[in-house]
Amino acid sequence: MNRLLAAAALLLFGGAAHAKQPEIAITIDDLPVHAPYPPGVTPLEVNRRMIAALKAAHVPATAFVNGVNATDSATMQALRDWRAAGFVLGNHSWSHPHLSQLTIRQFEEQLTMGEPLLSKLGSGTDWRWFRYPFLDEGKDDEQRIAARKVLAKHGYRIAAVTMSFSDWAFTPAYARCMGKGDKAAVAKLERLYLKAARENIAASRDTARKLYGRDIPYLLLMHVSAMSARMMPQVIGLYRNAGCRLVSLPEAESDAAYAGYTDLGLPPPQSPQQLAQKKYVQLMRAPDHSAILNSICS
Ligand SMILES: [Zn+2]
Repeated sequence: MNRLLAAAALLLFGGAAHAKQPEIAITIDDLPVHAPYPPGVTPLEVNRRMIAALKAAHVPATAFVNGVNATDSATMQALRDWRAAGFVLGNHSWSHPHLSQLTIRQFEEQLTMGEPLLSKLGSGTDWRWFRYPFLDEGKDDEQRIAARKVLAKHGYRIAAVTMSFSDWAFTPAYARCMGKGDKAAVAKLERLYLKAARENIAASRDTARKLYGRDIPYLLLMHVSAMSARMMPQVIGLYRNAGCRLVSLPEAESDAAYAGYTDLGLPPPQSPQQLAQKKYVQLMRAPDHSAILNSICS
């Protein structure tokens, strides 16, 4: 066999050995309002742009609502549009506080205040999924376990996050650059946004392989921002071109790696950093782009 053929065979069989495509579930936080917005852009337009992109690409996303921001007919319409397009709306607390700064009683209020809205919008859907605001699961083990008991009492499962490229950090930068009409800067933001998404595929896969010895289905965190709505078609293309299959949140969390998020009677899961320390492995960290995002167009 000549070298070229050998290389081709390796590619083929190497491919077959990794035949299972990595899976990603896209989740969108902060419905219906994730500010700031470029001048003249409304939350309803942003929600609609994102819904259209996900729907056109047949992506089964789950999105998380802060009831406090559904204050008028336009933001209510945005939520109804998500449901009309077939997406599931979960609970992201009433007003997005840090759990660490709440009493357990306040946490329970935060959880239940939006339920009339969610149950009405999500009638017939499996909407009892909770995403912690700021991914803050509590200030210590005691509070963390107490919050999990509250979630279990109300029938929730937790929506974990195992992939994120900090799309929220682009929100103010994009609003500023659009406000200035700086097309070159917006183009630069677009390139950086896609670069960050790519870098975080690598980092999340590195983490999973080191901690679980395999790909796990990844739970990607995004936000309903003007920038992410603009970029959604390219983001979906990027994951698909990277060989990933886009799946639903319940499908992803059916993997054993997420047992601690779906069975709240289990002990709280350890963080990737804690698990890495135990295994004496060093996790890859994706580059931090905050310096440029803070300074661009300012
Ligand atoms: Zn949030």
